[in-house]
Amino acid sequence: MTTSVDTALIQSLDSAHFLHPFTDFKDLSSRGARVITRAEGIYVWDSEGHQILDAMSGLWCVNVGYGRKALADAAHAQMMTLPYYNSFFQTTNVPAVQLAARLASLAPAVGDRSFQHVFYSSSGSESNDSNVRMVRRYWDLLGQPRRKVIIGRINGYHGSTMAGASLGGMSGMHAQGDLPIPNITHIEQPYYFENAIPGESREEFGVRAAGWLEAKILEVGPDKVAAFIAEPLQGAGGVIIPPSTYWPEIQRIVDKYGILLISDEVICAFGRLGHWFGYEKFGYKPDLVTFAKAVTSGYVPLGGVMVGNRVAQVLIEQGGEFNHGYTYSGHPVACAVAMANLDIMEAEQLPQKVCGDIGAYFAQRYAELNDHPLVAHAETCGFVGGLVLVKNKKTLERFHADDGVGMVCRGHCFGNGLIMRAVGDRMIIAPPLVMTKTDIDELMRLIHLALDRTL
Ligand code: PLP
Repeated sequence: MTTSVDTALIQSLDSAHFLHPFTDFKDLSSRGARVITRAEGIYVWDSEGHQILDAMSGLWCVNVGYGRKALADAAHAQMMTLPYYNSFFQTTNVPAVQLAARLASLAPAVGDRSFQHVFYSSSGSESNDSNVRMVRRYWDLLGQPRRKVIIGRINGYHGSTMAGASLGGMSGMHAQGDLPIPNITHIEQPYYFENAIPGESREEFGVRAAGWLEAKILEVGPDKVAAFIAEPLQGAGGVIIPPSTYWPEIQRIVDKYGILLISDEVICAFGRLGHWFGYEKFGYKPDLVTFAKAVTSGYVPLGGVMVGNRVAQVLIEQGGEFNHGYTYSGHPVACAVAMANLDIMEAEQLPQKVCGDIGAYFAQRYAELNDHPLVAHAETCGFVGGLVLVKNKKTLERFHADDGVGMVCRGHCFGNGLIMRAVGDRMIIAPPLVMTKTDIDELMRLIHLALDRTL
């Protein structure tokens, strides 16, 4: 379907006025942004009428797919009833309460951890800022103010605010703005393809990689470490799926030193890995769980932190006033949309679908990419997929950064009607959870086409 948008006009206004995130402003201005005008199901369309299969669900958000009228209806109804009211001064609103209770019922208790409380924000970055505040407040209240250091991972992503970018381990972000902020440090990521030593099995590597956390705790001093933050699997870093031995060993280490565990599930929650939350998939026990994105399937901004009993009890019983929050904490429209979004996920059993038949089909079809001459190491976890493009499949010789192979492949995807993201020499996808087997076949056809053209 074509649209009546004047592409040249929008592009010139775009380059005159809109500074895009994570973008070389000058470069975009010279080439012109592709104008996305509408979306339906798993497809988006640009202003020239091209249909594009969105295998990234926007930015890992649109889990229920595009064009869901129930979400628009929920926003409309809530706007007409109560479009906004703050939750600062001993007031609350119905959708925020209902959603908090619902999230508490969806987040399973594990061992001695349960999740009965939610602290709201509007994004993943803000939520991770809230985590920093809560973690430090927790240790202060317990009389251990020296415990300030939060350990993250190199190539982890936790957002773009000063604290979020500091918790993350993206060198390009640290290089701009004097980051990380004090008392944040990092360990290496559990990337088998890059960091394993010759002959090491995945399982052996997983234990060794988790051991880097213990080494870092000992280096910093166990009495100074407040928390470890990690994504269940690294998304923005290129879909780095940890070996099965990694998380159990991480759990053993955080338990041994009594440090808090923050599970950043901005990507992994709400069915993406076949469960409501990613910690269920990997079987660990977080104290704080960051969420955003798919809680509303990206239709409106909403984020937050599921605060586990260990932290909540101290903040509630001993904390007094918590001097932190956002104008939009518990925004009624965002929470109403989230409720409608969860209704769809439950009615269509999307998490079950991902860990059932359709998920298995996706994994099987995606694994076939390992036969492609350009591909090494194509793997999935739930509805997330990653692969490495290699120069020589036999020797696993990597491309040079200057080759820009990922960007070349991404260009071929785009040109053929597919959105796949490039992270260096890795290509990644996170398609909407509503994909059918026929959609998956079409997705694979388009990926093969792009890979063949990249050869
Ligand atoms: N944490 C993770 C794991 C993410 O993937 C992201 C964004 O991709 C964020 C935090 C930041 O979320 P936002 O962009 O909503 O601030």
